[in-house]
Amino acid sequence: MIALHKSELFQAAVSLLYPATCTVCRRQVRVGEYLCGDCEAKIIRIVPPFCETCSEPFEGSINTAFNCANCAHRAIYFDAAVAAYRGRGIVRDVIHEFKYNRQIHLRHLVARWLRAALDDERLRSRQFDVMVPVPLHPARQRERGFNQAQLLAQLLSEHTSISCRPLLKRIRYTTTQTALDRSERMENLQNAFRLRRNADVRGLRVLLIDDVLTTGSTLSECARVLKRVGAKSVHAATAARA
Ligand SMILES: [Zn+2]
Ligand SMILES: [Zn+2]
Repeated sequence: MIALHKSELFQAAVSLLYPATCTVCRRQVRVGEYLCGDCEAKIIRIVPPFCETCSEPFEGSINTAFNCANCAHRAIYFDAAVAAYRGRGIVRDVIHEFKYNRQIHLRHLVARWLRAALDDERLRSRQFDVMVPVPLHPARQRERGFNQAQLLAQLLSEHTSISCRPLLKRIRYTTTQTALDRSERMENLQNAFRLRRNADVRGLRVLLIDDVLTTGSTLSECARVLKRVGAKSVHAATAARA
């Protein structure tokens, strides 16, 4: 596991000015690259077999489409949630720096991981009418200074020409989810989201965007709200899967 230390953090900031160095280890890279070959090789791509619905990867060989036990035993409201990378090591550290240490320039690298999710065949073959970032509660957004999902969705929107619209609103300030199990998370999220005033998603094919998929509870709750008010379909893409 590689952790980003203070000196590396500083280097991450420097790499904004001199983008031709590796975000993590400072080694020189080709212009337009964020990671050197060695660091790139450490990030874990999610490869089949994985759950059709939530992308949870499995060991071994399964050749048919399948759903994991978690998705089979609970109500999931999104059609599929896709992540291309495991949120471990470098991926986890970079996302952490981006979100919690205001290393906003790292959004470009995180957005690149997110774009990889769009290559998945569950998303590639589809048309989307709108991209909706998972909202933060206004108090949390003030505290953080930005909504990471929205910054990512905006970058993705520039690359795909799917318009990005923050149509959801977080109306409950939920405590951190990390210590909660799956059913506690679902309960914690109940009525946490609602459609913004004057927003209309009837008949729309929605692509939800977030940085990390952990249990899928947040994305599912957003999808539930969107479908209740008439969204035709709701898929989700995230940069990483815990
Ligand atoms: Zn490197
Ligand atoms: Zn699943």
